[in-house]
Amino acid sequence: MLSRRDLLAIFARLAITAGGAGMILSDPIRQKFLFGGNSGLAFGESYLDELIHSAPKARYWKPLTFKDSGCPKEETIIRCFLCANGCAIVNGQRGRCRTRMNVNGELRSLVYGRPISIHIDPIEKKPFYNYLPGAAAFSLATAGCPLSCKFCQNWEISQSSPEDHQVPFTPPARIVAAAHTNKSPVIAFTYNEPTVFTEYLTDIAREAKKHGIRSVLISCGFMNEAPLAEMCQTLDAIKIDLKGYSENFYRTVCGANLQPVLKSIKQAAKSRVHLEIVNLVVPTLNDSDKMINGLIDWVMGEVGPDVPVHFSRFHPDYQMLNLPPTPVTTLERAYNMAMSKGMHYPYVGNVPDHPGNNTYCPNCKKAVIKRQGFFVTEINIKDGSCKFCKRKIAGVWT
Ligand code: SF4
Repeated sequence: MLSRRDLLAIFARLAITAGGAGMILSDPIRQKFLFGGNSGLAFGESYLDELIHSAPKARYWKPLTFKDSGCPKEETIIRCFLCANGCAIVNGQRGRCRTRMNVNGELRSLVYGRPISIHIDPIEKKPFYNYLPGAAAFSLATAGCPLSCKFCQNWEISQSSPEDHQVPFTPPARIVAAAHTNKSPVIAFTYNEPTVFTEYLTDIAREAKKHGIRSVLISCGFMNEAPLAEMCQTLDAIKIDLKGYSENFYRTVCGANLQPVLKSIKQAAKSRVHLEIVNLVVPTLNDSDKMINGLIDWVMGEVGPDVPVHFSRFHPDYQMLNLPPTPVTTLERAYNMAMSKGMHYPYVGNVPDHPGNNTYCPNCKKAVIKRQGFFVTEINIKDGSCKFCKRKIAGVWT
């Protein structure tokens, strides 16, 4: 388990600055700290040229015929099938996520091997509450995201382009070695939408597995079925944001759609991975009884009461500085509604030390995991069951 002392020691070793999305790796001294003396930096006149030149072929795309594309002139057009945006990309252009480029009729990933942010977090910060409590998660992100949520807390990363951050090429084995050196049993793909670096993250996860390190994904769930199937085979746990139970909310606030996300949650729930859901409750936009009830009913009906759901507090950020932080009473209302409908593991998120951060046994109602902030202070689970009444507690504990 990662104690407060361990975490402070790691912070000191990595000289990490405070910040929600970890440190930006553009600083060569920090790169050297993490990855050794040979950073592989070899920037030519144009970093973008270097990125394009070294970018490997992406997966999940196919060339469009002219009939499909509707393009009147001769062009090499590609359809990307990685996420539900399904971008049609003309030669020399990129998709909406800014990370996948049509280079002479081949789709390339500009973010493979280019992590721009690395941090070691408690796994509770992801948040995972029913998965390896107290584990240190070696967390990384690249640039880019297929969505454009107006409240994004990591917008400096998610809404940036790969060429905005000059970082060295970092092969998967080096990420795994760094996680191992820093005693992290878990690697987390997080901060931006990791789907955009699916080729990189699945290669890291395969390499990590060989070394007994697990891999987890923190995602908006907007990917298509085939890439998610590959991730479910490769990864160990997935957290999906269900941002609001409304198509209109997804369309107007996130620039996306609800249905692909619901589909991904159902697919992940049926797979072998551990699944948790987060609902960021934004005042006036998705905090009505109707929307919260709709979300709870859908989760209960489609994936069942054992999937943990975190009702998390919004803080003003990015393009939503006009709204106040979510009142704690709103989160408590959502939590109580979930409990009254029979959900086993609802949580109040982003409110340090609130009792809704604890995990309670659905049978005897005693606290089986107590938390202070992101730190676990007490575990009363033995062999996957409540120490008090022996009821099985859903999750992964070892
Ligand atoms: S992953 Fe990027 S390029 Fe591919 S469909 Fe989604 S937004 Fe478009």
